[in-house]
Amino acid sequence: MSQHVRTAIRVTGTVQGVGFRPFVYALAVRLGLAGLVGNDAQGVFAEVEGPPGAVQEFLAALTADPPPLARIDTVSTAGLTPTGAAGFTIVASDASGPRTAQVSPDTAPCADCLRELGDPADRRFGYPFINCTNCGPRFTIVRGVPYDRPLTTMAGFAMCGPCAAEYADPADRRFHAQPVCCPACGPRLRLAGPDGQDLPGEPIAAAAALLRDGAVLAVKGLGGFHLAVDAASDPAAAALRGRKHRAEKPFAVLVADLAAARALAVLDPASEALLTSIERPIVLADRRPGAAVASAVAPRTRQLGLLLPYTPLHHLLIRAVGRPIVLTSGNSSDEPIAYRDEEMLPRLSGLADAFLTHDRPIHIRTDDSVARSAGGQAALIRRARGYAPSPLPLPVPARRPVLACGAELKSTVCLARDGQAIISQHLGDLENFETLRSFTEAIEHLGRLFGIIPQVVAHDLHPGYLSTQYAAGRDGVTLLGVQHHHAHIAACLADNGERGPVIGVAFDGTGYGTDGTLWGGEFLLADLVSARRAAHLAAVPLPGGEAAIREPWRMAAVYLSRAFGGAPPPGLAVTRRNQRRWDAVLAMADRGINAPATSSAGRLFDAAAALLGVRDTISYEGQAAIELEQLADPAETGCYPAGLDAGPGDGDGPGPLLVRGADLIRAAAGDLAAGTAPAVIAARFHNGVAAAIVAVCERLRDGHGLGTVALSGGVFQNLLLTARAVTGLTDRGFRVLVHARVPCNDGGISFGQAAVAAATDAATTDAATTGAATASAATAGSATVT
Ligand SMILES: [Zn+2]
Ligand SMILES: [Zn+2]
Repeated sequence: MSQHVRTAIRVTGTVQGVGFRPFVYALAVRLGLAGLVGNDAQGVFAEVEGPPGAVQEFLAALTADPPPLARIDTVSTAGLTPTGAAGFTIVASDASGPRTAQVSPDTAPCADCLRELGDPADRRFGYPFINCTNCGPRFTIVRGVPYDRPLTTMAGFAMCGPCAAEYADPADRRFHAQPVCCPACGPRLRLAGPDGQDLPGEPIAAAAALLRDGAVLAVKGLGGFHLAVDAASDPAAAALRGRKHRAEKPFAVLVADLAAARALAVLDPASEALLTSIERPIVLADRRPGAAVASAVAPRTRQLGLLLPYTPLHHLLIRAVGRPIVLTSGNSSDEPIAYRDEEMLPRLSGLADAFLTHDRPIHIRTDDSVARSAGGQAALIRRARGYAPSPLPLPVPARRPVLACGAELKSTVCLARDGQAIISQHLGDLENFETLRSFTEAIEHLGRLFGIIPQVVAHDLHPGYLSTQYAAGRDGVTLLGVQHHHAHIAACLADNGERGPVIGVAFDGTGYGTDGTLWGGEFLLADLVSARRAAHLAAVPLPGGEAAIREPWRMAAVYLSRAFGGAPPPGLAVTRRNQRRWDAVLAMADRGINAPATSSAGRLFDAAAALLGVRDTISYEGQAAIELEQLADPAETGCYPAGLDAGPGDGDGPGPLLVRGADLIRAAAGDLAAGTAPAVIAARFHNGVAAAIVAVCERLRDGHGLGTVALSGGVFQNLLLTARAVTGLTDRGFRVLVHARVPCNDGGISFGQAAVAAATDAATTDAATTGAATASAATAGSATVT
């Protein structure tokens, strides 16, 4: 034995629930090594014993060829005294100690499982819960760590003999696959009617028949219930809209495979890679003219949201239906998606005609993710199922554990420790009790899974946000307020692995400014620690506050009044359509009653949309701007100019530059009065906003020497604007950073806040000690935005 060595190995990263122990076992056995492997709260530990050469080969192979879903962060080794014991074993999990192990996201069925699913000779033929160590449910079924069956929602299903044998066989693909099951022992599918009673027939075939007949079907998926209808049926899609009280926001469409997706939409390589990725997001793409999709599926947009099946159940259902189906969230209007079995009938019985459901509980509500190709690069718009809770790196590691509470709309939370940030799944708009509950549950659940007890808590500056109020209620932590647009730019920096400084262009609907006004068309000189407002859209009144967001015509009234000194051209259609309330709204704006000032870029787009007759009122956030982008003729190169004014100084020098957004509206109104086509005007407006961005960035580069621009904020979901701005900036020698892994909208705010908190805490050498939330710490982040 003297020539043998024994080495202790610790592997961290996403190494639980991804077949890592079987992989280690098989590798050790192949190399003739003795020892053990196990999961604990930090990851995977192993000891291997044998000839030095074989141990070296083992260590090399460990990192060279890990299982497909594993993501290794670190491998550390230590020498041990050989024991002489023979054989290799998998030891029981150890739940003690600090928890740092990572839970992997839910993953679409692998090729091996799909083959078995379609093989009449296989014992899992047609079984909708087939999975293995390389695929299947994870995040949505995990109750705690270590990731083992008793701590998942599979705990109630005792394995049958054959499943237990596979589970225990190191040579099997299902060795220690925690959700392993089969028709004899696992979850069961059933089709229920409106009262919850079982309907006759094989559930999938019967459900497919209902869909083909135009019924609305509720389907229990991975992270919640969906509602499905035949995507080609106008009456079915219209019925679904009516029951959901969802006027116009597009529905996603499930297609069987890539060929079916290509038949409906024009897909570039990045879109196809997203569609077929194991994360399986909904992918937005341009719909093909004449695509066989009911007009009620995605009204007034050239785009379509498509997704491929991401569970065995979806594979079986879409094949049985034989054509694309709408698959939209199981909820009414803006409520969170239903996911608990006990919610199914109370919340969905008025919406669905039947329920395709099963008895495997969903532990965590998780919406579908949404992504698209932006100029050939993949970009996430909503980060949820398939991505959460995969960690993302932070440019500056967190000295103390961080919780970032996000903003309000498209809420997410983010926990950070060391160099890693774990962003929650998309939680929805933090405006009701259900979403607030998801918010607090996400903080607690992720904290438990990752063993993170926050000592620094970052939040938005808006005092009215529930997320801000939640942060203020945490005892014994250091609070850090992070200005909304600084958080956007920090999110973009961190998304690109950068620290700045940059010229940050943060264009969105609304964010609370350091001066208490509503910002949203901001140019910041920013790094991860501080941000200075260097330029912004000239502020205008928001007549009626929230009402002006719901009624874009009010912004047209305000901007036209500004643009023409109170005397816009006569005969504009937008004025005629809203004649009854036009003067009252302008009076409200002039007197400043219930008309807070805003520099929002979103409201400028609203004004242009209403002026061009796109719409006077909206039924979902950003709708007017989205439809204005759809209207714009991409071939048009004309451009409206926007002037720049020096802002009022504050005694310490000149104030921020002011961008005259009203100039764009004046030019657009002039073209409209002269009979120019709205599609041309919409394009010239987009080009004008992009040109203003470039002009301001050039001025700021001259003054401050910064050659990199970061684009963030929900307005940059506008692909036409983003493409024009990126081209214009690149042509003038700027390096441009855009979002990829984290949404540019408010879904990315928590990640940005975490990046700011980590960098600020690292920069504060004399940081306040844990245990006291101090007033000075509470303003440390915001105070640096000047
Ligand atoms: Zn599989
Ligand atoms: Zn079984």
